[in-house]
Formats: sequence, structure tokens, C-alpha cells
Amino acid sequence: MTSPRYKRVLLKVSGEALMGNGSYGLDGTTVNAIAEDVASVTRLGIQVSLVIGGGNIFRGVSGAAAGMDRAQADGMGMLATVINALAMQNALEKAGVPVRVQSAIPMAALCEPFIRRRAERHMEKGRVVIFAAGTGNPFFTTDTAAALRAAEMGCDALLKGTQVDGVYSADPRRDPSAKRYETLTYLDMLARDLAVMDAAAISLARENKLPIIVFNIHEPGAFTAVMKGEGKFTTVH
Ligand code: UDP
Repeated sequence: MTSPRYKRVLLKVSGEALMGNGSYGLDGTTVNAIAEDVASVTRLGIQVSLVIGGGNIFRGVSGAAAGMDRAQADGMGMLATVINALAMQNALEKAGVPVRVQSAIPMAALCEPFIRRRAERHMEKGRVVIFAAGTGNPFFTTDTAAALRAAEMGCDALLKGTQVDGVYSADPRRDPSAKRYETLTYLDMLARDLAVMDAAAISLARENKLPIIVFNIHEPGAFTAVMKGEGKFTTVH
């Protein structure tokens, strides 16, 4: 077996990616399909960590738009990410993968608190670590949490699973002439304001020379394919 090009990665999955065809919450079939893909990446010998968003349940900005205090609403958004993390933990365990959830907001009865060295040890032992509750701070996103944890854990790449197979010049679902980029620089992403990741996440990745790989999480086995250098994706570096 040739050695994989990646030793340790972090996959960011948005909450919306877990809804399936629904418009809210979790779709079991979709969660299981992503878990199977993650399981197959671990079988390649790659250490995998995950950050899952919460947009399928609650987003702080929506709460704020409806008149809530933003910091309070963001607290609810972070709790939503814990619900998703527990659902993914369950699906991964069913797929035969050992998992630990670590939350940025301690919740001892449900999961471990985030402890970097402990997470490191879990990953060395082949456990998938799911980082829940974002950064633990309001006014941030789970994209930023993903870039932060990937940098802290010394990951070789930050994978962003989206609804399309890479970064396009325009929304390919609306504009048939949209062009997919094979590679982009961090500055291209920032300057063109391409709506793939927020600027804080891109800046953090740039400062830490962490490549971002954007691919379609809904394509069966896409994460595994990308890890083998196959399939379609955009690399930002
Ligand atoms: N959130 C937060 N701090 C963080 C990460 C997330 O306050 O570090 C809150 C915020 O309200 C956000 C919600 O959690 O709207 C869900 O995260 P996000 O919108 O990033 O989820 P996604 O769009 O990836 O599903």
C-alpha cells in the first residue's frame, strides 16, 4: 500500500449538509452516508477530526435578526452544533469507528471538554475527534472553529464539504457559465469574496499555511476520493 499523502486532516461539514432533502434538522440517511465516508478515510490510515456546523437547527444571526441578543443567540447556535456532533458520533460508532466528542463549552455529562493534548492522543490511537460548540465564543462561525482546530491539531489540510464540487466563479446552480477553479490562493478567495468560507477562517488558514480543499460532500465517497487525490475539488493554498 502506498502511504497516504495526508497524515491528519480536519473535515468541516455544515449543519445544512445533514438535512438531506429536508429543510430543518437531521436526516439519518445523509448522516450515515457521511459517517461511512469518514470511516473509509480512517481505513486509509488517515487521522480524521471533524467540525460540524449548526445551521440545520439554529444560527445566531437569524436569532439576532428576529430581535434576540446576538451573544445569547450564538450560544443557542453553538448548542445546535453539539446536537449534530452527538448524531455524528452515533453514526460513526455504528460504522465501527471509535469516536470522541470534545466540546469548547464543557458539558461533562455528554462529552469531553476540548483539551488539545487529549484530542491529539485520541487521534494517534485512531479515534475520530469531533470538535463541538465551535470556538466556544459568540460572533464566530464553525468555519473559523474548523480553521482554528485544524491549526491547533497540526492538520495537513482543512477539508470543506459543500453542496458543490469546488469553488466556482459564480453559483453553478444559478449560472451555467460558472467556472470551477482547480486551485486558488487565499488572497484570491479574500479579494473575490467567494462565498465558501468566511474571511476569518481563510485568514487563519493562510497564516498557518493550511491548505483548504473544497469538495461536494453529497457525492457518495467524495471525502475518500479527495483523500486519494481523485474526483473533483478546489485546493486553496
Ligand atoms: N457559533 C458561535 N461561535 C462559534 C461557532 C458557531 O457562536 O465559534 C454559533 C453561531 O450562532 C452560528 C451557529 O453557532 O450561527 C452555527 O454555526 P454555523 O452557522 O457556522 O453553522 P453552519 O453554517 O456550518 O451549519
